[in-house]
Amino acid sequence: MLETQRVAPSPAVVARGALRRLAQMHLEPTPENYARAYAEEAGQPAPVVDQRAQAGAWAALVERLARNLERRGVQWTAARRKESLRRLFESSRSNAPRLLQRLQVLMTAWDDDVPVDAADTGFDASLVESAAPSAANSAADSAAWMALLAVLESTVRAALPADEPRAAELAPQLAALVAALAAEGPSAARQAELEELGQRTLRLFAHRHELVAQLAALCQELTQGLTELAEDDSWARGQCANVQARMAEGLSARGVRAASVLLAETRERQRRVRLERQAARDGLKQLMHSMLLEVGALGEQTGRLQTATEQHVSAIESADTLEGLAGIVQAMLADSRAMHTAVRGSQERLQADSARASSLEQRVQELEAESRRLSEEVSTDALTQIANRRGLMKAFDGELARCQREGGTLAVGLIDIDNFKKLNDSLGHAAGDQALKWLVSSVHERLRPGDQLARFGGEEFVVLLPRTGTQEGQQTLTRLQRSLTEALFLYEGREFFVTFSAGVTAWRPGEALETALERADEALYEAKRTGKNRTCMA
Ligand code: GH3
Ligand code: MG
Ligand code: MG
Repeated sequence: MLETQRVAPSPAVVARGALRRLAQMHLEPTPENYARAYAEEAGQPAPVVDQRAQAGAWAALVERLARNLERRGVQWTAARRKESLRRLFESSRSNAPRLLQRLQVLMTAWDDDVPVDAADTGFDASLVESAAPSAANSAADSAAWMALLAVLESTVRAALPADEPRAAELAPQLAALVAALAAEGPSAARQAELEELGQRTLRLFAHRHELVAQLAALCQELTQGLTELAEDDSWARGQCANVQARMAEGLSARGVRAASVLLAETRERQRRVRLERQAARDGLKQLMHSMLLEVGALGEQTGRLQTATEQHVSAIESADTLEGLAGIVQAMLADSRAMHTAVRGSQERLQADSARASSLEQRVQELEAESRRLSEEVSTDALTQIANRRGLMKAFDGELARCQREGGTLAVGLIDIDNFKKLNDSLGHAAGDQALKWLVSSVHERLRPGDQLARFGGEEFVVLLPRTGTQEGQQTLTRLQRSLTEALFLYEGREFFVTFSAGVTAWRPGEALETALERADEALYEAKRTGKNRTCMA
């Protein structure tokens, strides 16, 4: 009889059998269940498991894992941590003790931020570091990330202040790093560099934000100082209050620009008032001087008459003939007439001087009154006679009510004259004023009756186009731009092109006009940036 020797089944067969057992018993393939099934399949005694000790070890590990997963190190970035875990689970999930042991090694490596040996964890760092382009999708992912990184880099560079030495240093470093990343692929060292550069950029931005806040505070301080220095009820005081109100609305590029324009206008108007006052004062001085001369001349004349009269008196006393007396009377009459003429002349001249003095004084008073009136102007712009900022707010409130009633649309356009400073500098401020009036009347006569045009400040205007969408609004403004280049601005017999750039947006229900204007301003900036005399949408 042949003796059958029991041959031990291969581990693969046992493992398959263990899995079959688990499936038949509807047990979860946990390490413990699997170990038990494996032992039963292999005919071995069930493993003695110190369940409490194991649970404690696992709990500690899971805790470490959770704590460590999102942390970053030079060696162990968040991405590499996740990748190492994935590989570790892949290689050790069927062997609980090995999984436990490898995880513990990995956690220690994470804690100390040191590399690990692949044999200890199943994680080969070089595979990740070199971003092996073996798989087509990882190459595509990498290209997509590089493209995104390039966009991010150009965004950050655009945001860096142009005139800042630290920014000038950062920009090329950032460009070089992104180029290196694109050429070499990501690596721990490059990532550390990128992080360091990011931190420096962040510090610079934070500092610039602080600078903006400080500038706003300085502006408040300056206008406050000016208000205290300005005479009561003066135009300057009113303008300072306007600037403060505008700054208090919150910091926006347009708000700051409007405040600067207001201050520049204030300075210019003050300068003109000062010059006119000076001229009036000089004129008055001149008049007083000539009046004094007149009075002096009159005095001399009176003195001469006095002397002549005394001579005539002694001549009368010594006269012994009627003819002699008649001659003296004739001479007295002639002297008296001459005196009378001189006095009347003086009187007339003094009256004329006095009238001129009054008119000069009146002019000074008018100037001051006009300045005050301009500052207190309620809702109309004094120069162009269209709505000013306050008028615009009123018009917007009206539109708001209409939109709520009808649920209609409203396009908001922001207009800014192109190269206006140049026109002012070459033709003078008065020509600039004329150009503003001309532009307003040209635009006004081409708008629909329900459309609103307002001067927002300086050479900026706002149009409200009811029942109009963004595209239609853009078409309207573009049409205005075209018609303006056909009708030239005439000044002192010469013709000039006056063009404007514009940004247009659709007002969104519920939002403040300021918010829509902020969007329109972005589009306006885009129009300026891309060549002027055009309208962009936001
Ligand atoms: P851009 O095309 O970029 O808009 O250039 P710009 O020269 O038009 O813009 P900038 O803001 O540098 O200059 C605007 C000028 O408008 C400066 C200011 O003196 C002038 N300005 C503002 N208000 C008035 C005004 O009421 N009358 C006159 N004549 N000029 C004004
Ligand atoms: Mg402007
Ligand atoms: Mg301009």
